[in-house]
Amino acid sequence: MERRIDFWRERQMFCGRCDHGWRVDLDWIDRWEQATETCPGCGMTCEHEDSPRVTLDSCDPALDGDRVAQFFWYHASTQAHWPTRDFDPSAVLTPEMRRRMGGEQRVSAWVASQRAKALHVGTYEAAVHNMLRRIRDQADQRSQFNLYQVRLKPSVVVREGWLVDPANFVGDVVLDEVCPPGVDVARYLNYHEDPGGLSLALGRNAIASVQRIAVPLPDTRDGGWVRDAVAALEGVSDTAAPATGKLALRMRPPSARAVLGRQLGASLADRLPVNLRNQFRSAAVFAEGEDPERWARRTSGLFDLIDDPTSVLAALDQQDPREV
Ligand SMILES: [Zn+2]
Repeated sequence: MERRIDFWRERQMFCGRCDHGWRVDLDWIDRWEQATETCPGCGMTCEHEDSPRVTLDSCDPALDGDRVAQFFWYHASTQAHWPTRDFDPSAVLTPEMRRRMGGEQRVSAWVASQRAKALHVGTYEAAVHNMLRRIRDQADQRSQFNLYQVRLKPSVVVREGWLVDPANFVGDVVLDEVCPPGVDVARYLNYHEDPGGLSLALGRNAIASVQRIAVPLPDTRDGGWVRDAVAALEGVSDTAAPATGKLALRMRPPSARAVLGRQLGASLADRLPVNLRNQFRSAAVFAEGEDPERWARRTSGLFDLIDDPTSVLAALDQQDPREV
């Protein structure tokens, strides 16, 4: 079952100091993070330790534990066969790396700890948010991403209540620590992606099947934004200006085409919710020498993940489920 997808929805705030709860839009949170808004209850700014944070919406349908397994859940990954059976994280280690880790016994212990980690799934919004963040922050800039739609086994046992985001920022959660024996799935309040939404930590065994598409879907529509962007980009020079002066080696000024590409990406970003704009701008950056049409189709596809989820869900719907 699909839940309503809304990247713009209001969020619930809760102040740890005065217990005041209230609803805000994303622009409010943006101002709050810049310390230009305060708690309406006690006047505290975001700079204090127990300052207000985004929290769960009491209307979140996933708060009903009986319905958790009925919903579709999502995951973004650069792996084409997530979640991998017989996952061997040591496959990429060279003999030199194994030696530096302290020998085979240490490597085996490390493999066991990697395998003990929970998998994560979340809302559609959280998966898109996660992907944008990784394109921007990590070495995944040119990686092919996949969006997975996940169906849970109807029989899963869901841990009662919810946890506050148990992950450190790299997302390492030991499955046994959040899902004690007899429990398959733990819900947690996600602060980082789709803030205020519920995500799940779970083991592979809780998943019945997945459907996958490669994202972003390239925009194949005729006309519209892509056509205009390509025409504009092809109308300006792709030659970088000659560098002069002391900084010549390090700072070659960008070509007119790269500058325009970045402006076009930024103007799309400005149409998105404020908490996704920076990530989108970085993820859609026009690289020097890039093919204008390829860039425009990819960038438009990235935009549609947020602006037009219906087409993305339709593409997912056409994929054959893979049993896990
Ligand atoms: Zn307060």
